[in-house]
Amino acid sequence: MKKMYIGGDFVEGVSKRTFPIENPATEETLDDVPRAGDEDANRAVAAAVEAQKNWSFTPAIERCQQLHEVARRLREHLQEIATLMTLEGGKPLIENMDEVEWVAACFDYYAEMGRNEIGRVIAPVQRHQINLVIKEPYGVVACIVPWNYPLLLLAWKLAPALAAGNTVVVKPSEYTPLSTLLMAERALQHLPPGVVNIVTGYGPEVGEPLVTHPQTDVVAFTGSVTTGRRINMLAAERLKKTHLELGGNDPLIVCDDVDLDVAVRGAVWAAYLNMGQVCTSGERFYVFESVARKFIDRFVDFTRSLRIGNPMGPDVDLGPMISATQREKVEAKLEQSRRLGAQVLCGGKRPERFSRGYYFEPTVVTEVNHSMPLMREETFGPIAPIMVVRDIEEAVQLANDSQYGLGANILTNSLEYALTAAERIKAGTFWINDPLTDNDAGPFGGMRLSGIGRELGSEGLEAFRDTKHIHMDYKLEAKPYWYPYDWSKCRKTD
Ligand code: NAD
Repeated sequence: MKKMYIGGDFVEGVSKRTFPIENPATEETLDDVPRAGDEDANRAVAAAVEAQKNWSFTPAIERCQQLHEVARRLREHLQEIATLMTLEGGKPLIENMDEVEWVAACFDYYAEMGRNEIGRVIAPVQRHQINLVIKEPYGVVACIVPWNYPLLLLAWKLAPALAAGNTVVVKPSEYTPLSTLLMAERALQHLPPGVVNIVTGYGPEVGEPLVTHPQTDVVAFTGSVTTGRRINMLAAERLKKTHLELGGNDPLIVCDDVDLDVAVRGAVWAAYLNMGQVCTSGERFYVFESVARKFIDRFVDFTRSLRIGNPMGPDVDLGPMISATQREKVEAKLEQSRRLGAQVLCGGKRPERFSRGYYFEPTVVTEVNHSMPLMREETFGPIAPIMVVRDIEEAVQLANDSQYGLGANILTNSLEYALTAAERIKAGTFWINDPLTDNDAGPFGGMRLSGIGRELGSEGLEAFRDTKHIHMDYKLEAKPYWYPYDWSKCRKTD
């Protein structure tokens, strides 16, 4: 059994209850972890509160060195961590190796950002005044994360929160706690005890106690809209700060001026990366009608050529989905849309050659419209619904016909198409010819239902810093506006 990480020690849960972690490719149990409850949440928050007293006043340059050390250790253990991520999450090893490197890069980025400045000096309004705007940590941050990029989405919170001087309690997904605990073991133990704490378990049992705890100051959450709404309601009652990175239903527009082979490769990758279980997966495809027939044929051929199999590889493009439940949700959504007239051109079922594991064939669907759940709601699975559009006007109008606003994509060589869409589509990130790519220095997050706040970039650091204005007069002398009042300047009225 694995233990949780609280106050610098690996510990059992107070209740001693545990739950199993499954390998989604084989359905075998990998290990058990503590099923934490509110007493464990209290212990972890107490450790974080204690550690905060020193961490917040640790010189920024020292915090910088410690965060670079996290990055160095992650790279040293990259293969081992990526392997465990693959076993518990089902994403191909090649993608998890990338993910660990991105996590390390994120720590390097915020190591430098955090030591760079802690505010600004503003212009005084009187002589002898100096006015400082100081950025300081909030205190204790609760980070609640999902399973699809378990370490990356944690790093986007953990690295800036620590760089800003906060201490943290992490609640990984109940599907993927093992790699988070391994990260603590391999890459976080040089940090002072209590600076990072990890509690494992289910959202309502240990996530909610973190949200409602009087000594957690900020809740940074990535996950579904439903959970985000629940967390925001609990936090609002307590006037607690939240950052919410929620679901998406991203459009991808294919214009009539593209090299179709390149466009197909980009669009297929956007649809099926990590079995479509990416918050910014291409979930709705709008193709100009003059190239639609050829594009769809090639999209289907290329989809059929993808290699499904054991995510440990080699020579595999797609692994299993995360769980039986997630696969059933996707199947149900596909079936609903089929009943409304959608046509499945390939895929749409479980591959026959696997007797175990949550595999599903990548699926291309046409004859779709915006009355269908596939086009209106987040699918979070390997389904690519393609709709034919007349022109850029119709593509933009349909792209915007959504309650979400996380990301949006266009493939084109036309500056006019690209910038017309970029200017008008509601989305936190707009990708031109390079779907789903992140940049640590570029803010990431959603408009509309897709979230509140931004991660990464300077915005991502700001999310974990509170603002204090220090107003000083370096010469202590009586002010003319202090008591007793001098009434001579007031004109007498009759
Ligand atoms: P989820 O909302 O079910 O769970 C996310 C986390 O919240 C888990 O750790 C879970 O245990 C916890 N949780 C659940 N109920 C809770 C509660 N009542 N209180 C506190 N914590 C609770 O989401 P998921 O299935 O793990 O992840 C998939 C979702 O995440 C998708 O909707 C996807 O779009 C979204 N996502 C968004 C981004 C982004 O950056 N915008 C990135 C990745 C995933």
